[in-house]
Amino acid sequence: MKPGASSVTTMLSFEQALSEVEARLAAAGMAPAVEVVPLAQACGRTLAEDVPADRDYPPFNRSTRDGFAVRSEDANHADALLKLDGEVRAGEYFESEIAPGHCTAIMTGAPLPAGTDAVVMIEHARTEGNKVRTGRPVASFENVVRRGSEAPAGKRILPAGKTIRAGEVGLLASVGKANVAVHARPRVAILPTGDEVVPISSTPEWYQVRNSNSAMLASVVESAGGIPCEIGIAPDRKEALQGLIEKGLEADMLLLSGGVSMGKYDFVEDILSDLGAEFYFRSVAIRPGKPLVFGRVKGKFFFGLPGNPVSGFVTCNLFARPAIAVLAGGRFPHPSFLRARLAKPVHHKTGLTTFMPAQIETRNAEPWVSLVGWQGSGDLVGVAEASAFLVVHPEQPSPDEGDWVDVMPMAG
Ligand code: AMP
Ligand code: MG
Repeated sequence: MKPGASSVTTMLSFEQALSEVEARLAAAGMAPAVEVVPLAQACGRTLAEDVPADRDYPPFNRSTRDGFAVRSEDANHADALLKLDGEVRAGEYFESEIAPGHCTAIMTGAPLPAGTDAVVMIEHARTEGNKVRTGRPVASFENVVRRGSEAPAGKRILPAGKTIRAGEVGLLASVGKANVAVHARPRVAILPTGDEVVPISSTPEWYQVRNSNSAMLASVVESAGGIPCEIGIAPDRKEALQGLIEKGLEADMLLLSGGVSMGKYDFVEDILSDLGAEFYFRSVAIRPGKPLVFGRVKGKFFFGLPGNPVSGFVTCNLFARPAIAVLAGGRFPHPSFLRARLAKPVHHKTGLTTFMPAQIETRNAEPWVSLVGWQGSGDLVGVAEASAFLVVHPEQPSPDEGDWVDVMPMAG
């Protein structure tokens, strides 16, 4: 922390910092607006209504096979010979009840005729004139999905707060939800800082860098369910930076990139302080990304992310992504760790939770994780190749080749 800066001085662990973000968002109790959108536009949004089954699912005893619908008590032995009454196709139904000793041909997806309760697969049966030899015994409800077994009418099949993905879209379509109530997407302002940072469309001088962070952060915002609002590039000058920060605070959340280190021209925290910010943490024991600022000012949450592209990528994914999901009406998504074996030893500085861009591959039916070309916190080439982070915990010694380690799949 720079001399003179106020409040929180302790460095939080990764878990503490994440809990802090979760708790602060929960305490703020922000209720995002609700809007109704066509189902085709609902993927990635957060459901704002409980959705019940509009009828039993399936709505009838449905055959899962092509074959013969039988009374199971007639066909509980291998060699039943049943009289064939006709057929029932998907999209049709059989008018009359099937009497004992009788059966019908049935297609996958068709409703079982009254009286029948099982289906003999066509592969096992043999037709002999107007009779069917069943070939194998069947049990009651074999090759049948029972009416209402997936969901009885009125049962909540999706709860408000659920993120809508392709599977949910299919389920919503099946219950006839052509239009769905979803939460409004939060607007997230993105403000990169730095005198050396120039727009991506320009040709940088040899001492300048393109503003890669805005586009990268915007992608994270988008995939977390927010609307990214890029509001320009702030120079490392107090007045101009303050104007842009104030503009950013018109959005629902502000993501700042750069200017949060100890440098002489790192003004972000000073300006936020001047504006009356409450800081919940200013540094987290993680690598990359130790200088990481989270707080609230003028009713809006903000993150001050490190300017290093990889540090910004990691911290945005770890902390800002779940916060955006909550502002979008969803639950706070907790990180999930998987286990894999380490391909090459990794040097780890104890005391920090380390997140290293990595790739996972399967060798001899085991998952193995290897680092991608990671030369430090600026290496976007490595990030682009990565599908996961190798995670090494603060107390853990440097892991060796073959050790089982934690990996965190990358979202979005
Ligand atoms: P800072 O956190 O401001 O000290 O910046 C750390 C490093 O990240 C410096 O090398 C910056 O040039 C670089 N950097 C800062 N902002 C951006 C940006 N928007 N796009 C790409 N690189 C950046
Ligand atoms: Mg800077």
